[in-house]
Amino acid sequence: MSILIKQVIHNGAPCDVLIEGNRFKKIAPHIDCVADQILDGRHKAILPAFYNTHNHAAMTSMRGYADDIDLFPWLKNHIWPFEACITSEDVYHCTRLAILEMIRGGTVFFNDMYWFSTSTVRAVEEMGIRAAIGRLFIESSPGVILDGNLKENEALEALASSASSRITLTYAPHAIYTVSGKTLCMISERAKAENAFIHIHASETEREVSNSHKDHGMSPIAWLDRCGMLGPKTILAHCVHLAVEDINLIRERGCIIAHNPISNLKLASGRFRFQEVIEESKCRITLGTDGVASNNNLSMLDTMKFAALSAKDQSRNATVAPAHVIFDTATLKGAEAFNIQAGTIAERRLADAILVDLCQPAMVPNHHLISNMVYAADTSCIDSVLCDGRLLMHNRIIPGEQDIIEAAQRAIAGILERLNQEHRKREGL
Ligand SMILES: [Zn+2]
Repeated sequence: MSILIKQVIHNGAPCDVLIEGNRFKKIAPHIDCVADQILDGRHKAILPAFYNTHNHAAMTSMRGYADDIDLFPWLKNHIWPFEACITSEDVYHCTRLAILEMIRGGTVFFNDMYWFSTSTVRAVEEMGIRAAIGRLFIESSPGVILDGNLKENEALEALASSASSRITLTYAPHAIYTVSGKTLCMISERAKAENAFIHIHASETEREVSNSHKDHGMSPIAWLDRCGMLGPKTILAHCVHLAVEDINLIRERGCIIAHNPISNLKLASGRFRFQEVIEESKCRITLGTDGVASNNNLSMLDTMKFAALSAKDQSRNATVAPAHVIFDTATLKGAEAFNIQAGTIAERRLADAILVDLCQPAMVPNHHLISNMVYAADTSCIDSVLCDGRLLMHNRIIPGEQDIIEAAQRAIAGILERLNQEHRKREGL
């Protein structure tokens, strides 16, 4: 399969881009060759696609379901009862809905942690994007991993052995307050032996930090290090509350921070210290949306804007988190974090890209393309999306979109029906 994009703007000048198989073969002012598909790139710019490094994709089912509530009562009283009524089939349909939304927003990869992960694999395989999918670990009591997790993880491993190269498995213990030290140590041993990624929520709230000091006599980051969890393949989601020692540990171990500015603001978790963590301490940072329940969309464009604005506000310094740095964290840094040879538009790199419509109102005038992407663009500016050399969206059309939306609507109606039944049972009605 080959795709030739004619006269698209690349680094400020029109050029032709030839994709062969899943890589960029040639980028030049003019390419004369035969290709399976020829795209008109005029009035469009080609840019790297987005890599979303913290997500719970199937949570699209909870968009707007329980907003404006503090994290712990939000989880306990709303999210967990809702999730108890979700089936594997629901996860499949709601993940497809999430992927649809991600493709519309130019995202070609997400790092996921959720129940029924085999359904996530199915959705990703069908829809053609990339994903790191977690073996989820949550305990019912210290040292006792939920039976459902163990069974699903076993099925996930069996399924992944024949999955495409777009899928990577991670170890995804939920957090230090839902997984004991003993299990974290076991997971870190396994991850090291397999050279696998670890994905965990860390230092998200003040409460998590104060409980960690109470329970373990140290911060969550120090505790994770004690359990052998910190390394260059560890993705730490949030990292809002960090002591100087924590920042140093994260840098020394080479861990990757998944910064989720919108979720942090919405749940009032605290303010991520962008300038200190990234610009001064040089920790590795990527961007994530978190699940829809705490966002309420999966737009990496919105995420970039919030990351930039919240960093400036937090440091009271308008020069912090400039557009090109933020754009890099959402694209190249995310791809690099997961060893995906993409994130730049260059020959021999994997052919992941977006075509941006330069005639959309938010892109006019085009004094600075990357500034427009970070501060002005919305998803209507994204015309086409390529992942692994395949066109997933062209002229803003994704094949099968209506069917995916309707199937997700039916699945969500079913979840609500089961939730109501549970409620009636509890009330003795
Ligand atoms: Zn999360």
